[in-house]
Amino acid sequence: MPNTSEFVPSITDTEYNAMLRNFDRKALVNLATDKATMPYLARAKLRDDLLLMLDDVGVPSAGDFYKALGTHNAVLSGSFVACYLDPDFSATWPAPVFGPRDVDMYVGKGKLDDMLSAISQLSGGTMQMVSRSEAPTPTLDKDGEVLIGPVHSRFYNNAAIGAMARIRIRVPGKRSCYMDVMESKSKSALMPIVRFNLTHLRAAISFEGILDLHPEWNHDRKTYASPRVKRSQAVDIDEDFVSPVEKFYSKYRNRGYEVVEGDLVDDTEPHVCRESTCCPLTLRSTVDLGVRFTPITEEAAIRLCHGPPQLLADPIVYWTHGGKCMYSGDETVDPVVYDSEGVSGDHMPAAVET
Ligand SMILES: [Zn+2]
Repeated sequence: MPNTSEFVPSITDTEYNAMLRNFDRKALVNLATDKATMPYLARAKLRDDLLLMLDDVGVPSAGDFYKALGTHNAVLSGSFVACYLDPDFSATWPAPVFGPRDVDMYVGKGKLDDMLSAISQLSGGTMQMVSRSEAPTPTLDKDGEVLIGPVHSRFYNNAAIGAMARIRIRVPGKRSCYMDVMESKSKSALMPIVRFNLTHLRAAISFEGILDLHPEWNHDRKTYASPRVKRSQAVDIDEDFVSPVEKFYSKYRNRGYEVVEGDLVDDTEPHVCRESTCCPLTLRSTVDLGVRFTPITEEAAIRLCHGPPQLLADPIVYWTHGGKCMYSGDETVDPVVYDSEGVSGDHMPAAVET
């Protein structure tokens, strides 16, 4: 059996034409007029598979839950997305296998309570609020370092999250499903996803489609650590101590990812620095050509002919991965995240470049 994931994207016009030569005229007419073309069927299957997986992790009324993602401009992210996109890979992860009994969801600013309300109204299950908290206001210590306190590690690790709720959903006869619903500081649900410290996590599933912000970097199960993640936390502590950074990397290394640390993204194609979407120094955006958005609804596929989906454009989120690039000498660029309405995804507003 061919490796389908390698095979499908490699179909060229020449190969399509070779396939078409096997069809008679009647089949060609059907193919040219019938709605049941391969992209249509692929989108339908991606949707069906998503609903099956949601049902499998214990989400009640998966179809209504999926629609609620669209109504409230919410996205799913985290391990759930990795498991959905690469089920064979996630099946090899060490126990607890497929942690995603828990599902991570992200909503735009001001949407948390609407989303919780929508989930609580899904038939076939009952929702319980486990916890709900707002991000603390960060302060600076005498050295200018950001202190945010041990309120919640999510807030410490991701400054683009403004509030979050952890809920438990119980469906009779199934294991409980835990869901973390994170509210972005931006109107865009995507800002915390752009702000993730490993590039393979910068991916999401919305009602309309599947989003990958770094398709050029994330192949071969590689993932690049943001220069924000400093190893200094492990310094001067006895050697048995495993730093939070080491734990963070280990989680993904144990799952089979190659975590690439350091400033240099050393694997990219030769390119023009600060312009190419595969350069870590480039200011990227959710509407640039480096973003891969795969529609999974027909409406999204049609709208994509006219421009990027609302989720990516209203507002646009900008980011720089940062660090160094092998094609740009010693130049170093700080990682930064903000949106087109001026909301910063960093602990402190970025210095304005003039
Ligand atoms: Zn570069």
